[in-house]
Amino acid sequence: MTTLVWFRQDLRLADNPALHEAAERGPILPVYIFEPAEETGESHPLGGASQWWLHHSLQSLKKRLPGLVIMKGDARHLIPQMAKDVGAEAVYWNRCYEPKAIQRDTDLKSSLKDDGFEVKSFKASLLFEPWEMETKSGGPFKVYTPFWKSAQQKPVPEPLAAPDKLDTISYDGGIKITELDLLPRRPNWAAGWEKLWSPGEEGAHQRLTTFLQNELQGYGDLRNRPDLPNVSRLSPHLHFGEISPRSVWHQTHQAAAAKKSLADDAHKFLSEIAWREFSYHLLYHFPKLPEANWRPAFDAYPWQEPGEDLIRWQKGLTGYPIVDAGMRELWRTGYMHNRVRMIAASFLIKHLRIDWRHGEAWFRDTLVDADLANNSAGWQWVAGSGADASPYFRVFNPITQGAKFDPEGTYVRKWVPELAELPTEHLSAPFDAPPAVLKMAGVSLGKDYPNPIVDHAEARKAALAGYDAVKTVG
Ligand code: FAD
Repeated sequence: MTTLVWFRQDLRLADNPALHEAAERGPILPVYIFEPAEETGESHPLGGASQWWLHHSLQSLKKRLPGLVIMKGDARHLIPQMAKDVGAEAVYWNRCYEPKAIQRDTDLKSSLKDDGFEVKSFKASLLFEPWEMETKSGGPFKVYTPFWKSAQQKPVPEPLAAPDKLDTISYDGGIKITELDLLPRRPNWAAGWEKLWSPGEEGAHQRLTTFLQNELQGYGDLRNRPDLPNVSRLSPHLHFGEISPRSVWHQTHQAAAAKKSLADDAHKFLSEIAWREFSYHLLYHFPKLPEANWRPAFDAYPWQEPGEDLIRWQKGLTGYPIVDAGMRELWRTGYMHNRVRMIAASFLIKHLRIDWRHGEAWFRDTLVDADLANNSAGWQWVAGSGADASPYFRVFNPITQGAKFDPEGTYVRKWVPELAELPTEHLSAPFDAPPAVLKMAGVSLGKDYPNPIVDHAEARKAALAGYDAVKTVG
């Protein structure tokens, strides 16, 4: 039996259930379709950094699977057409969970079935299907801790090996990956990213191995330190499905079984993987998560017009070094450390009182790991408008956060080099440094580095005053 295997957010051969089952049954036509947002009406299109990643990830997959056919257009038309062209009897894919993708796949499944195809979808991107996870009283989880407790009771099957042999059939009409035009030009803001990242299945597995061997030890505490290497940086690999969460789960357990001192750190790491599952759970059950406040009372918040403040935040010119370091790391590498994501997001929402949706859009465009579920859940968590969110009144102090989590100033010195000569005790608040110290460090505030865009204490007061409007509603 010939099967069309449609690759989407599962750009891998190992632990790919759709590919695995199709390959066992006979020849396959492997297809990837790039769907431009103009055609699908996607309101949260793939950002620039994600497009860079996708280009390289597809190239890597094509090397391992030379028969992969690349197409551009609307999958609703292309999939049935291609399946008919090659005389396939079946169409298989691994499930996606974004609301638009669910709608597209549901429509496609029923029209393909009407046309007589066997259609099967598989679980590959998550450990637990969003509809499999239920509270004791039934219904979706809204709080993370019981979700994680329940998740730990569920079995996670062993990952599947890559198929031994793939019999791919040829198809005329595919295009080259370069024709998708995914890479930036004029300016090439991603110059040098090949040295930072290794998109693709091989790179994903290497990253996990290195993390488990060298960086997992101490993860529980050190994951909060942007100056240290103790996080996995697996997020873009997981987003594009270059490695499965089941592989991550089992290999982490194996690492902890082999070295007892890793047990607590491994547990903490897997609990973060479970935050990803929780975000998908929320998105599935509350499909408006990317655009609407999960707590509608937040609709009453008096947001400021974004204007120049938003631009200064995006450029890393707020005058608060930890925020600026994070925003510049993001622009220069396509990544920002989780602790700094929280600080920078809080600064936009609370210090500048700019609607979280502006931040979500910027992150979506600039993160290589931009992910509709994790990004919207992350922003709503910081805003206080989300499920199980950080309370709004907890306003991150960018001065104390900087001093605590970048204690030697290594992270700030790397990304805000104009402050490199400042003594560490002044690095998180250069505006409080004595003029003589600034002079010695060669820093002229307002010239070499901006004065703070807002005063922390006043901004905090204004943020809390804005929150009164939310409290009044409920
Ligand atoms: P590790 O600490 O090594 O964690 C391992 C994996 O667990 C991650 O790769 C990720 O898949 C998952 N994970 C970790 N923390 C979280 C979390 N808080 N929520 C959901 N999953 C998590 N993550 C994205 O993948 N894409 C996004 O677009 C995204 N946007 C965010 C926006 C904001 C405002 C915030 C506060 C967080 C966001 N996150 C997002 C979550 C988190 O910051 C990243 O997953 C993490 O920094 C990725 O680095 P890592 O792989 O080294 O993480």
